[in-house]
Amino acid sequence: MARQTSQGKCNLCGTTCGKAAMTRHLAKCVAEHAKAGAQRIFQIQIEGRGAPEYWMHIEIPATASLKVLDSFLRKTWLECCGHLSAFTIGGTTYDIAPEPDPWSDDKSKSMVVKLGDALAPGVKFGHEYDFGTTTELALKVVAERRGALKSATLLARNAPPLIPCAECGAPATQVCTQCIYEGPDAWLCDAHADAHACGEDYFLPVVNSPRVGMCGYTG
Ligand SMILES: [Zn+2]
Ligand SMILES: [Zn+2]
Ligand SMILES: [Zn+2]
Ligand SMILES: [Zn+2]
Repeated sequence: MARQTSQGKCNLCGTTCGKAAMTRHLAKCVAEHAKAGAQRIFQIQIEGRGAPEYWMHIEIPATASLKVLDSFLRKTWLECCGHLSAFTIGGTTYDIAPEPDPWSDDKSKSMVVKLGDALAPGVKFGHEYDFGTTTELALKVVAERRGALKSATLLARNAPPLIPCAECGAPATQVCTQCIYEGPDAWLCDAHADAHACGEDYFLPVVNSPRVGMCGYTG
């Protein structure tokens, strides 16, 4: 489906710009707004794998754990019904519930590891939520700075992409979870969703997240 590259908004100053421009903008804007301190802080860019129109930049203390980052991703973009999740960093899997069985082949580690011990500027890594109807995210440590930051903070995020109704071209408000894998016909406005053959039980609201239309995700 041809979707526009979405613009996004900087939470620090309100500037609106495109995705690549935002990375450049934040390099300046974060420096202008940052509180002084000695804490290590990572700036991380996150986007949907295969759905790059959904993106955000966050800052997070390097002393926070991967589990804290996982919670932030769930709260902002992912959580529907408490599915399992995992990060993959340089070939190592960090699981939310690692297999304790020593005879198991599962060699994944726990998410209770500090970001500063697992990541560094330039490192690209992945996150998966729900191993059934999986939502995959691509993450990258864009920068590291010294400063003061209490907790994970959203710096900038994409504006909702405009997805047209397959029948009339008006903005789609609902997506049919039966037809979503077939392509653009699943995306409909309220009026055309009412007329859609699959029935209303299969519809989920169109929300600003790479998990739109998956499982029971309603934003
Ligand atoms: Zn800004
Ligand atoms: Zn679910
Ligand atoms: Zn329509
Ligand atoms: Zn359908």
